[in-house]
Amino acid sequence: MTTYLLEKALVGEQVLDDVLVTVDAGRFVEAGPDARDRAIRLPGLSIPGLANCHSHAFHRALRGHTQLGRAGEPPGTFWTWREQMYAVARRLTPDSYYALARATYREMLAAGITCVGEFHYLHHQPDGTPYADPNAMGNALIAAAKDAGIRIALLDTCYLAAGIGRAPEGVQVRYSDGDATRWAGRVDALKGDDTTVIGAAVHSVRAVPKDQITTVAEWAQGDGQSGKPLHVHLSEQVAENEQCLAAHGRTPTELLDEAGALGPMTSAVHATHLTDHDLALLGSAGTHACFCPTTERDLGDGIGPSRALADHGARLTLGSDSHAVIDPFEEMRAVELDERLATQRRGHWSAIDLLGAATHDGHASLGFPDAGRIAVGQRADLVTLDLTSPRTAGTGAGPETVVFAAVAEDVRSVMVDGVLHETAALRPEIGHELRAATEGVR
Ligand SMILES: [Zn+2]
Repeated sequence: MTTYLLEKALVGEQVLDDVLVTVDAGRFVEAGPDARDRAIRLPGLSIPGLANCHSHAFHRALRGHTQLGRAGEPPGTFWTWREQMYAVARRLTPDSYYALARATYREMLAAGITCVGEFHYLHHQPDGTPYADPNAMGNALIAAAKDAGIRIALLDTCYLAAGIGRAPEGVQVRYSDGDATRWAGRVDALKGDDTTVIGAAVHSVRAVPKDQITTVAEWAQGDGQSGKPLHVHLSEQVAENEQCLAAHGRTPTELLDEAGALGPMTSAVHATHLTDHDLALLGSAGTHACFCPTTERDLGDGIGPSRALADHGARLTLGSDSHAVIDPFEEMRAVELDERLATQRRGHWSAIDLLGAATHDGHASLGFPDAGRIAVGQRADLVTLDLTSPRTAGTGAGPETVVFAAVAEDVRSVMVDGVLHETAALRPEIGHELRAATEGVR
């Protein structure tokens, strides 16, 4: 049992001074009578652990290498970026993916992320044959998260087609299980534990036929008691909407609704190009809408209707997706700042609401409803920010400091399930690890 005296802490919706928290077996517990005398001081502003709800760990190898497209070619589009991403996907083995994911997850830890939602579709050997352990890749990711010191929701992804009505092509044979029933059989062999949730994902309406989406959704819903997380890329690109309308006469959201895939444990990732009917469907089902603003801007996806989604009843969460940037503070403020650019008005999202998306709502969408609040009974996660840095000094130490002033580099320490990490000591090591792990696979 260890007690900490937090100089300032975000408790509920308020920043309080001198907050005493006691940690036992990875949870916040009631402080004893003499706890204050034994307390370890944590200077700065402590907030709950941050949830990164959408990650493809291997995309980290592409950072800095995709801005100009391939040699001699113009800067490119989402689809030419995808070709470069596939080239990395072709090379990865369980060992090299473990090393790359561990380094990427350590970068997340140092940025204040205590749990990652890994949208994982790189399942099989390069020719599509399963590994001796059919979950060798998924298990490598689970081990990487454990060794990096963060929790993981492995969102094992069903990916069956190159496009609507088209068999997998090229590297996509590594992604496909053939059909959703075989996907479920493989996923059933994955084991969760106290820091690992096994969830489901449908890659997109492009990559999974409607009847197969239903099979994945039924697997995630299980016996209906609590259900597992179900994530899906939704309407990131206008082309996806056009293809879906041409093939089915429905938007991707309408197709997911008919397939039974919308609900409170569903996260619609991106949700960028939506109709009014889509907004109503996502909102009334109480889905999460996972925005990934730094990736969406990097890929030129567009600005999604975050405020309208929330007004209809959807719950915002955030992810760093392609890891062009890993900085949850930047993701938070980008939601509000993008709305300002789109509408020429300010004041769509408060700092507290954006913090809710990055903390308790994010963790809940990953199957960890007991994380994301500094409160007795919750998982003992703390992200402590330096209030004396050139960015944060003089900013008032309120929620606005966190959302509109801080950057990942301002994270001084991170506690995950009661284990405290000092980031200054970690950063040089993480840089070294990332360099080695990315050079190996590009
Ligand atoms: Zn994605």
